Amino acid sequence: GFRMGIVGLPNVGKSTLFNALTRTAAAQAANFPFCTIEPNVGDVAVPDARLDKLAAIAGSKQIIPTRITFVDIAGLVKGASKGEGLGNQFLANIREVDAIAHVLRCFEDGDITHVEGRIDPLADAETIETELMIADMESIERRLANLSRKVKGGDKDAVAQERLLKAALVALEAGRPARSLTIAEDDRRAWDMLQLLSAKPVLYVCNVAEAEAAEGNALTAAVAERAEAEGAGHVVISARIEEELSQLPADEAAEFLGEMGLTEAGLDRLIRAGYELLGLQTYFTVGPKEARAWTITRGTMAPQAAGVIHGDFERGFIRAETIAYDDYIAGNGEAGAREAGRFRVEGKGYEVKDGDVLHFLFNG
Ligand code: GDP
Repeated sequence: GFRMGIVGLPNVGKSTLFNALTRTAAAQAANFPFCTIEPNVGDVAVPDARLDKLAAIAGSKQIIPTRITFVDIAGLVKGASKGEGLGNQFLANIREVDAIAHVLRCFEDGDITHVEGRIDPLADAETIETELMIADMESIERRLANLSRKVKGGDKDAVAQERLLKAALVALEAGRPARSLTIAEDDRRAWDMLQLLSAKPVLYVCNVAEAEAAEGNALTAAVAERAEAEGAGHVVISARIEEELSQLPADEAAEFLGEMGLTEAGLDRLIRAGYELLGLQTYFTVGPKEARAWTITRGTMAPQAAGVIHGDFERGFIRAETIAYDDYIAGNGEAGAREAGRFRVEGKGYEVKDGDVLHFLFNG
């Protein structure tokens, strides 16, 4: 599944947010209670109202949401790339995530010390980014040295790696993160395998005071502008509100949200922004036994989408019986959608759409 690492300077609210996100009623959906893998890793059910509607129509016994993993990556301080604080462990943790949720302190509170002695989320963003970039430069220098013999020997993979590493180094030396590079489609796989820290997609999470959760403030506006300029995502969340929400049963949580002028919990908004940033989407499989959500990247073809369920589904793929989500709802189920002529049989060349209700036929 997808993994999102939560990073940020000390005292910005990372742990508060992590604990809240992984403990809300929504996260603890019946079949997948919050499970602690390690103290700082939490598996969360992705809330999706569509799945509940589909299950209600089909009378599914079980609802199985898709999941996202949050990793609370503590210990970043200035100098982490030099091994200060929990530096090395921190960097190793970041390599393993698909995206970085970067928590920025956008709340004033005289009682909570800021490590740099001032509230300045843009400067904080730079501090962390700089550490990641320094770590990347050092690892690139090391890797280039290790590659040189293979490159001389004409190893094709090594030559490609060297070319990509050198391009990344040029960007980093000019003060730009590796994610600022445009990577050719053919190089995607090799590029991803380099696992550069500053290449990970970033989602800025502005942690604000309770009263500012709905509208944000001047600081969050500045972060939004930065995010926009660099193609990053951004959300405004109050970790304190999320903390309170996580302690309420679902109905009271909804009421509390309304009182705060919010329509959606931070978990939902964070996940949606994360999906957007990573180009993720959801398809469904629906039957009397279970209604289940599956995560794929945008542009995934039917056989590869089937492969998310099981490798055999992809290898033996024959066709995908398909009903768009809206058609399934409008027809009040498969039979109605069929009658309305909304039941389609799609082949190998079909690009799965967000919300598709699919049934795969395959040679086993
Ligand atoms: P971390 O070091 O980034 O993990 O930060 P913590 O989650 O441990 O939070 C540090 C302190 O800031 C704790 O005392 C939190 O209760 C407090 N805190 C977190 N979010 C907020 C917020 O939105 N407003 C205020 N006033 N305090 C917060």
